[in-house]
Amino acid sequence: MISPIPFIAKISADDQAKWLAHLSQALPDEKIIPYEEIAPTDYNNIELAITAAPDPKIFSSMPNLKWVHSLWAGVERMMAEVPDAPFEIVRLEDPEMALKMAEAAVAWTLYLHRDMPIYATQQRARLWKEQPQSRAGGRHIGLIGLGRLGAAAALALHQLHFEVSGWSRTPKTLSEITTYSGADGLGEMLAKIDIAICLIPLTQQTRGLINKQSLKNMRPGASIVNFARGPIIEMDALVEALDEGHIAHAVLDVFNEEPLPQNSPLWTHPSITILPHISGPTNLETASGIVAQNIMAYRATGQIPKSVDKARGY
Ligand code: NAP
Repeated sequence: MISPIPFIAKISADDQAKWLAHLSQALPDEKIIPYEEIAPTDYNNIELAITAAPDPKIFSSMPNLKWVHSLWAGVERMMAEVPDAPFEIVRLEDPEMALKMAEAAVAWTLYLHRDMPIYATQQRARLWKEQPQSRAGGRHIGLIGLGRLGAAAALALHQLHFEVSGWSRTPKTLSEITTYSGADGLGEMLAKIDIAICLIPLTQQTRGLINKQSLKNMRPGASIVNFARGPIIEMDALVEALDEGHIAHAVLDVFNEEPLPQNSPLWTHPSITILPHISGPTNLETASGIVAQNIMAYRATGQIPKSVDKARGY
C-alpha cells in the first residue's frame, strides 16, 4: 500500500482546503492529507510530501522522506530554512505562471514606456502636457535572469518590438535576444538598457546584486522592475538613486518584509510603484495538474523529477 502524502503548509485554512480539493481531484489514487492528520505511526513510511510555505521543523519527523514538491516556483525560503535537507526539493515549473509573468513584464514595461507615472502626477496637478514618445524599438529592456520566467518575459517583450537583452549565470542563446553572462556581462548589459527587470532567484550570489555600483552603471533616466525577491536590490541605494533622479522609476512587487510594513517610506515615494507580490500568481488548477503529473511519473518509474540544485541555490 502506498503511504499518504502529507500536505505541509502555513497558509490560510481556506487556501489549504482549495489546494487539497484540486490536488485530490488531480490525483484520485493518492491520499493527500494535512500533515497534522497523519498518524505518527505513518511518519516512517512517508517518502514524499507537498509543501507551501512549510514549517521547517516538521521535516525531521519523517526520516524516510525522499522528496518534496513545492507549490511555489521560488524556493528561496525553503533553501534558507532547511539548508541541509536530506531530501530533494522539486519546485513548480508551470507554463501558465510563465505566461502570467510575461504579461506582468509587458504590463509594467508599457507603464514605464508610455510614461504612466508622469501622466498620473500630471493628472493630480490638472496639467495637460504631452510627453515626448519613444519607439518601442528605441527602448532597450534587460532581463536580469533568463530562466523559465525571464525567457518568457524576454520573448513577449520582443514581440512588442522592444530591443531585448538578458543576463544569466551560464551563457544562453535565445533567438532575437542579446544575451550576457558572468559578472562582467551584467555590467555590460546594465550600461545599455532603459528598463531592467529582475527575474533571478535569491541566492548568496544574487543578494544585493543591484547595489550602489550597479545602479551607477545604469543609464541616467533608466528604470527598474523587481519581480524576483526583495533582498536582490539594496533598497537604500535604490532610494538614493531615485532621489538623485539617476534612476527614473522603480516598480517593486517584492520586498524584504511582506506585506510591506504600513510605516515604510516606500509607500509614498513619488518614484516608486508598489505591488503586493502579484506578478506571477500560482494557478491552482494548472499547478495541481503539474504536481499530479510529477507524482504519477514518480509512482510509475521511481524517478524523482528534476529537483533544485542545492549547491547552486536554485
Ligand atoms: P529559473 O528558471 O531557475 O531561472 C533563474 C535564472 O536566473 C536563470 O537564467 C539563471 O541562470 C539565473 N541566475 C541564477 N543565479 C544567477 C547568478 N548568480 N548570476 C547570473 N544569473 C543567475 O527561475 P524562474 O522560474 O525563472 O524564477 C525566477 C525567480 O522569479 C524565482 O526564483 C522567484 O524569486 C521569482 N518569482 C516571483 C514571482 C512573483 O510573483 N513575484 C512568482 C514566481 C517566481 P542559468 O540559466 O545560467 O541557470
